Amino acid sequence: MKNNLNPSPIKDVIGKLTIEDLDLKGKRVFVRVDFNVPLDENLNITDDRRIRSSLPTINYAIDEGAKVILASHLGRPKGKVNPRDSLAPVAKRLRRLLNKEVIFSPDCVGHQVKNIIDKMQPGDVIVLENLRFHEGEEANDEGFAKGLAELADYYINDAFGTAHRNHASIVGIPKFIPSAAGFLLKKEIEYLKGVVNNPVRPFVAILGGAKVSGKIGVLENLEANVDKVLIGGGMAYTFIKAMGYEVGDSLVEKNMLETAQRIRKKLKARGVKFYLPVDCVIAHALEPGSETKIVPTLEIPPGWKALDIGPATARLFSEALQNAKTILWNGPMGVFEVDAFSRGTFAVARSVADAYALTIVGGGDTDLAVHQAGVSDSISFISTGGGATLQLLEGKELPGIAALTDKKS
Ligand code: AMP
Repeated sequence: MKNNLNPSPIKDVIGKLTIEDLDLKGKRVFVRVDFNVPLDENLNITDDRRIRSSLPTINYAIDEGAKVILASHLGRPKGKVNPRDSLAPVAKRLRRLLNKEVIFSPDCVGHQVKNIIDKMQPGDVIVLENLRFHEGEEANDEGFAKGLAELADYYINDAFGTAHRNHASIVGIPKFIPSAAGFLLKKEIEYLKGVVNNPVRPFVAILGGAKVSGKIGVLENLEANVDKVLIGGGMAYTFIKAMGYEVGDSLVEKNMLETAQRIRKKLKARGVKFYLPVDCVIAHALEPGSETKIVPTLEIPPGWKALDIGPATARLFSEALQNAKTILWNGPMGVFEVDAFSRGTFAVARSVADAYALTIVGGGDTDLAVHQAGVSDSISFISTGGGATLQLLEGKELPGIAALTDKKS
């Protein structure tokens, strides 16, 4: 796996305690994980990658002799108990993955849970019921956070996907007990901050997805260190329209036209190569069976929408990646959820996977696309976050990281 060949680009970028800084032996360790896994109608887990992502932290805590308390949210129960959003299936899957007994607690806070934890032995693991069954979680209620903190001696955050939320289990608990980053959180920060602040160059950023407005912060933050920017997805057509060309009925954010033009010119002035699609797959509608055509971007007829990059663009982007030493990819090249408009995204996934570069993929859709393309094992690092990934790439501090105990203290 490529992953093992590429050590993370930057070390010690966190400035916060990490799990290895704490002596966990015999301690009650509250680990906030992101076990928000998809379940089918029979409550079977359809994808357990989020559970697997935290195994290094969980196994380390077990090996160090901690009493491991795992807490997560699942779904959107909005402060009410809903059996559909129970973490019981997660505890069951974890038993299999760890090949050891895992206790399941029917609540996440209160005397009953405390009593169960008091009886735990070093190396034992408990999964608490859904944090969001309590309103206090999303409201960041101090009393609720204190109740959670009272269950443990130390707090570890390994829930990168939720680190941008001001929730009790993310920013509340660290007010009460020493708090550190788990291995997953640490790795995410090292890769994402590393790529933004100190990429090995040439550094190529590929951005796609629906809207310019969702990615403008990333573009502005990458500006100083990026060598090439490749734009695909719906956002490309706002840039093309802003240059004065017609794009038929393709997605255009009218209120972003000036911003798109300004950023493109700014990047150009810095000597950044800025690539837009030269051809695209168009259709009248998004329906799977609707007629499609491949046309040059400047020839999209009225009434047609560009829903994927075309084959010439896929080749162009592949060429542009050839000399890259670092590649960051966020956002699909087209409506890849529909088979007819998925080829551009999958072609780019293969080009990224084949590149002789440190390759970092971020965002839920792009993560899914590389898995569907069957190339995820050939990507150096796939971020587990959506909103959290974007915020780090935008150079913003994540509340869940800010809340952890400073390294110096
Ligand atoms: P985002 O969350 O901004 O990364 O956007 C992801 C979504 O963008 C995906 O669901 C895609 O279907 C959608 N998308 C990608 N390309 C296009 C396009 N050309 N037109 C409309 N939507 C698109």
